[in-house]
Amino acid sequence: MGDDKTGAASNFIRQIIEQDIKSGKHDGRVATRFPPEPNGYLHIGHAKSICLNFGLAVDYHGTCNLRFDDTNPHKENVEYVTAIQEDVRWLGYDWGDRQFYASDYFEQLYDCAVDLIRNGKAYVCDLTAEQTREYRGTLTEPGRDSPWRDRPADESFDLFRKMRAGEFRDGARVLRARIDMASPNMNLRDPALYRIRHGVIHHQTGDAWCIYPMYDFTHPISDALEGITHSICTLEFEDHRPLYDWILDNTPAPCHPQQIEFSRLNLEYTVMSKRKLTELVAAGHVEGWDDPRMPTIAGLRRRGFTAASIRDFCERIGISKSDNTVEMGLLEFSIREVLNSHAPRRMAVLHPLKVVLTNFPEDRTEELQVPNHPQDESMGTRTLLFSREVYIDRNDFREEAPGKFKRLVSGGEVRLRNAYVIRCDEVIKDAHGEIIELHCRYDEATLGANPEGRKVKGVIHWVSVPHAVEVEIRLYDRLFSHPAPDAGKDGADYIDHLNPDSLRTLTGCMVEPALTGAVPGENYQFEREGYFCIDSVHSTPARMVFNRTVTLRDSWAKMQQKQRVN
Ligand code: ATP
Ligand code: MG
Repeated sequence: MGDDKTGAASNFIRQIIEQDIKSGKHDGRVATRFPPEPNGYLHIGHAKSICLNFGLAVDYHGTCNLRFDDTNPHKENVEYVTAIQEDVRWLGYDWGDRQFYASDYFEQLYDCAVDLIRNGKAYVCDLTAEQTREYRGTLTEPGRDSPWRDRPADESFDLFRKMRAGEFRDGARVLRARIDMASPNMNLRDPALYRIRHGVIHHQTGDAWCIYPMYDFTHPISDALEGITHSICTLEFEDHRPLYDWILDNTPAPCHPQQIEFSRLNLEYTVMSKRKLTELVAAGHVEGWDDPRMPTIAGLRRRGFTAASIRDFCERIGISKSDNTVEMGLLEFSIREVLNSHAPRRMAVLHPLKVVLTNFPEDRTEELQVPNHPQDESMGTRTLLFSREVYIDRNDFREEAPGKFKRLVSGGEVRLRNAYVIRCDEVIKDAHGEIIELHCRYDEATLGANPEGRKVKGVIHWVSVPHAVEVEIRLYDRLFSHPAPDAGKDGADYIDHLNPDSLRTLTGCMVEPALTGAVPGENYQFEREGYFCIDSVHSTPARMVFNRTVTLRDSWAKMQQKQRVN
C-alpha cells in the first residue's frame, strides 16, 4: 500500500476518490458525511468512521457533514445529540455550519414518497407485520406479491395522506416500495418506506409527524439533498446498495452519490453494539456511558486517552473490506506512543510501606531538582522533597528473595530514583508478623549517581512521608474476560462474560506534591506504574482520584501468551 499525495496511507476508498477527481465525476468535488443515530454515545468504531469521513474531506479539500440520522424517535434523545457533537469536536474535527438532521428533510421525503406512489413505484400495504414476514419468502424461496400491491395509485395516495393525518393506528398500514418480490436480494422485496408511530415526541420535530421514514429510504435522499459525493458506510450495508441506488433512480433526487462500504472495527474483549452498550449502562454494570472501561469515546477520554492517540489508532488499523478484529494491545500501543513522549514523569506509591532513614537528620528536608522527562529537556524540572521518612511500594521489598529480584531485600541495597542508595538494616513487624516499617540507612555519597566502583542495579520510586499527598487510584482491566464476548448465538450471553475484576480501587496511595492541582486532560507517567490522569467524575481538589490509562508495557500480549499456554 503506497502513500498518496496527501501523505496518508492509501486505501481503496482514496483510490476511488482520486479516480473520480481525475475523471471530473461530481465536478471533482469531495463531499462526505458522518451519519450517527442519536441513540447512544459514540464508540471507538464510530471513531474509525469519523476519522475516515472527516479525514477525507480535509485531505481532498472537500466537506464533511455531521448528519443526525433521527428517524427512530423512540430510541433517540437530545442528550445523545449533545454527546455526539462533543465527541466529534474533541476528536479534532469541525463540521462548521454543516450540521443537519434527517428530520430536516421529512417534508421532502414525504414528497418523494408521494412521487413514488404517483409513478406506481410505491403502495400502501395493509398486511400485518406477521403476514408481511410470511409473504417475504426466504433466502432460498421467492416472496409472494402482497394482495395490496396493485392497489390504484390514487387509493394509495389517499391512504398515505390519511396515515400522515393520524387516521390509522400503529402497524395498521405501511408504505412499501414496489420493486420485486422474487428478487434474490431480500432488501428489494418491496421494502417498507414509511411506518406509523403514534405518541412519540421527536427531539427535533415534536409531535408534527406520526409517520416516520425508514432508514433505507431516508439515507439516500438525505445524501442526495446534501450533495454528498461519496456515501461511506460499513459492510453490512453492501446488500442495501441496490436499494440505495433504486431510491435515487426513482425519485427526483438532485444527484446520485456513490455508496462505498468498508469493514467495521471490532475490538477484542469488548462489545460495540449500541444496544449492548445501552444495556450495560441501564443495568448498572458500568458507571455510565463515560465509564473508563467502556469502548466509548467519552469513556476513553475519561480513562486518559488523547484525541491524537485515537486518530493514530484509526490510521494504523487502516481501511479495507475484510472483516477483522483488532487486539486491544494495538489501541494501547497508540496511547503509549503518544504519552511516552508527552507525559511528564511523577512518582506515586500505590501500596505504601514506610522507610525510616535512621542516619538522616530528623529536621532536614532536601530539595532535589529533577527532570520532568528523561529525554525531553524542554519539559523542564520540578522540585522533589527528600526527608528522613519515605514511602516505597510494598511490592518493592522482600525479606528474602532470589538473586534476580532487583529491588530491596533485608540487608541489601537499592537506589531511590533521583535520590540516594539505601541499605535495609531492620524489618519492623506488628504483633501479627505484618511488616509495618523498614529501618534503612542512606549513603550520602550516592546522590543522583553511583560513585566509582559501586554497583547498585535496582532503582525504585518513593515519596517523602511528610510531603506526600494521599489519593485514590483506580486500576482498570478489560471489561470482559472473553476476547469475543458477544460471539455466542445472538450475543445473548455476553453479560456472563463480564470481568468481575475490571475495576480495582486503591485508597491510601501516596503521590508527590507536584501532582497537587492536576486536572482532567493532563496525562502523567507514574514511574514504573503506568500512565495516569485525574478522574473527571470522582476527583475533587481535596481528594484527588487518578485513573490508570494504561500500564507501561503491553500486558495484553503477555496475558494472551499465558492463555495460549494454559
Ligand atoms: P448499532 O450499534 O446500533 O448498529 P450503528 O453502528 O449503526 O449502531 P450509527 O450511529 O448508525 O451506529 O453509526 C454511524 C456511522 O458509524 C455509520 O456510518 C456506521 O457505519 C459507522 N460505524 C458504526 N459502528 C462502526 C464500527 N464498529 N466501525 C466502523 N464504523 C462504524
Ligand atoms: Mg446505523
